[in-house]
Amino acid sequence: MRQLLWLRNDLRTTDHSALHHAMQQGPTLALYVLSPGQWTLHDDATIKLDFRLRSLQKLAERLQQLNVPLIVIQCDVWRALPQRLLELCQHWHIGSLHFNDEYGVNEQLRDRQCSEHLQAAGIQVHRHGDSCLFTPGSLRTQQGQMFQVFTAFKKACWQRLHTAPLSSLPPPLAQAATGIASQLDALQPYLAHNAEWERLWPAGEAAAWQQLEDFCQYDLYNYQQERDFPALDSTSRLSPALACGLLSVRSCWQRAVLANQGEFDSGSEGVVTWLTELLWREFYQHLLALNPRLSKGEAFLAVGARIPWHTNAEQLHAWQQGQTGFPLIDAAMRQLAATGWMHNRLRMVVAMFFCKNLLLDWRLGERWFMQHLIDGDLAANNGGWQWCASIGTDAAPYFRVFNPVTQSQRFDPKGDFIRRWLPELAHLDDRQIHLPQTGKDLFASHYPAAMVDLKSSRARAIAVFKQAGQATV
Ligand SMILES: Cc1cc2nc3c(=O)[nH]c(=O)nc-3n(C[C@H](O)[C@H](O)[C@H](O)COP(=O)(O)OP(=O)(O)OC[C@H]3O[C@@H](n4cnc5c(N)ncnc54)[C@H](O)[C@@H]3O)c2cc1C
Repeated sequence: MRQLLWLRNDLRTTDHSALHHAMQQGPTLALYVLSPGQWTLHDDATIKLDFRLRSLQKLAERLQQLNVPLIVIQCDVWRALPQRLLELCQHWHIGSLHFNDEYGVNEQLRDRQCSEHLQAAGIQVHRHGDSCLFTPGSLRTQQGQMFQVFTAFKKACWQRLHTAPLSSLPPPLAQAATGIASQLDALQPYLAHNAEWERLWPAGEAAAWQQLEDFCQYDLYNYQQERDFPALDSTSRLSPALACGLLSVRSCWQRAVLANQGEFDSGSEGVVTWLTELLWREFYQHLLALNPRLSKGEAFLAVGARIPWHTNAEQLHAWQQGQTGFPLIDAAMRQLAATGWMHNRLRMVVAMFFCKNLLLDWRLGERWFMQHLIDGDLAANNGGWQWCASIGTDAAPYFRVFNPVTQSQRFDPKGDFIRRWLPELAHLDDRQIHLPQTGKDLFASHYPAAMVDLKSSRARAIAVFKQAGQATV
């Protein structure tokens, strides 16, 4: 019987659990489902969808070399999928379906419903854990609980890796020709055909491997010193590739460990710090998998529901458009709008300003990020926003409020990043650029005045959070 490999955010052939097991069991067809209605419901950014589908085109070429045809169907929302999948399996004489697990609540529901529907019709379903280093739920505290503190989670990961090193799968071998042609025409209406995006974000598995190699060669060892300076462009920028699975996280881990003589918890500080970022990714994926409410806009901590979040449309608009009057924030928001990506330090600065100084509802910021990020990932985005809003597990303490001006002076000391994205401020000197203050500066540049007073808005946030926290007692 034929095997069906259902591709989702795992658009690669190397170290791909479901592909490996499907091809071992018999002649395999691959499937991709276009779900525009669901993409809208999930706030998927146009740039992310374009990157994903361009990567799918590349994957189809690679699958062709393996004689695995790619079938593309359209099913607007996932509700209708169980029946569509069953019809497809019957049409192509499929005996088993294979896919890699995804951890959002809708994704889990979709997979459960599809699995049950197919199994009831006698089709086998094989689910694989693939997007994490460890199966969510398999790492527990001594009390059998999910880890809520990152450092303890990291130590448990290290311990596991010392006793059971990661292994990766052998490269797939071509199967006999199936005589079935790949069908890619259905992708056309959803491709953006944007030359700038294609230049900025080359799609596909091969480009992602090249990027990983370049990063390991040039920036990995200095990662710890340079990662917080947005003008340096020295982080890996692999987040879009990881979000749609062009590389497995195991491959990233192993490549970095190789660069560190086999060590992951000692040796090069740059390597250890970068691997720790991969563990933050892992931590948030596990949290999402084990806490369905995180997919539903709920805060991890109860205090999140007691904070009187604001929804001021004017302030929201100013933040979204990069018109807050704080140059580092505005430069970051314009980087996001222009490239679909934002540096991690800046994600923290803009999100904390949003949730603390403006007291705007963190879900509005989370949503805007999702709608514009090329690497939009529910687990990481939700985790990042809840961290900044001090409502997540192991989040920033509520009284920690980044000052966007001192952050700017510290992490963009010469204003290089600000000048790149706010040319209207390029004429200011290295001191003025962090907060243009005089009427003359503003008049010359048409740049808005600061939208809030940092000192009083910080004090207001701390008071509000304190009061919300006390309400538990
Ligand atoms: C408010 C907020 C929202 C965020 N939204 C997302 C998102 O939607 N998608 C996303 O992939 N990351 C998100 N992050 C995490 C982080 O900012 C990005 O992963 C990182 O900036 C991507 O750049 P890079 O690939 O160069 O990272 P590198 O510094 O090279 O790190 C390597 C990889 O580790 C992972 N990683 C790094 N930092 C984190 C982190 N703090 N949390 C989880 N994973 C991490 C990413 O997969 C990243 O590609 C968010 C962070 C914040 C504060």
